Amino acid sequence: MIEIRGVRKSFDGTAVLDGLDLDIPRKSVVTVIGPSGSGKSTLLRILDFLERADAGTVDFGDGPIDLTSTKASDIRAVRARIGFVFQNYNLFLNKTALQNVAEPLIYAKGVKPAEARRIAAEQLDRVGLADFADRHPSTLSGGQQQRVGIARAVALNPELLVLDEPTSALDPEMVSGVLEVIKQLGRDGMTMLMVTHEMRFAYEASDKVVFIEHGHVIEQGDPKRIFEHPQQQRTAEFLSSTN
Ligand code: ADP
Ligand code: MG
Repeated sequence: MIEIRGVRKSFDGTAVLDGLDLDIPRKSVVTVIGPSGSGKSTLLRILDFLERADAGTVDFGDGPIDLTSTKASDIRAVRARIGFVFQNYNLFLNKTALQNVAEPLIYAKGVKPAEARRIAAEQLDRVGLADFADRHPSTLSGGQQQRVGIARAVALNPELLVLDEPTSALDPEMVSGVLEVIKQLGRDGMTMLMVTHEMRFAYEASDKVVFIEHGHVIEQGDPKRIFEHPQQQRTAEFLSSTN
């Protein structure tokens, strides 16, 4: 189990995360849903130290790591264990798909270049892009670029893959291919924490759904229960507003 505890964050005196706790069972897919502005992206950014928490810890099973820390060793320890997939891919535009996947392996993990290219080719194949390894991002569709982003994160073999609305920037016809890749990763046993507004995906592909509002977990549990029998009125209201 990966345990997130007591995460607090304010911007300009306004609490965006207000003592948030979250458990992510190993080899499970946890999806976070909730209204815009409820603190979902802030939580994920804090987990990657892109944003510094005011309080909170993450524990991968060998003791809590302080999410307020500014120590390079803490930041490295967390970043080595979490892979991040961004909404807007964040690919290097002047590099090929293969280089985008291989180079973090070389620079972040010290993998030898030939081995990094081998792993990168394997991961691109896994996301259905074996034939696109030598393409630059600008010649790929949004869906293909996002699959490169996923391959890049997965290639680093993270303990937890974090995805922030990975399909929200995509044209509708590109969404299902990316969601299918994510579903397959889940079936392969990747532990994932994903923010999504794709309610059907959350229903079908997650082991646990967490509804967040105003920086609190309002309700969480089995997708079938959350979607079909929400216990909290706010959850029911949110779900009916997304239909
Ligand atoms: P969500 O992803 O659930 O839509 P966010 O975590 O992006 O929500 O944002 C939550 C709130 O925090 C919003 O009101 C947003 O404007 C605010 N916020 C996020 N990042 C910053 C920042 N760097 N500075 C100031 N306010 C921020
Ligand atoms: Mg967001």
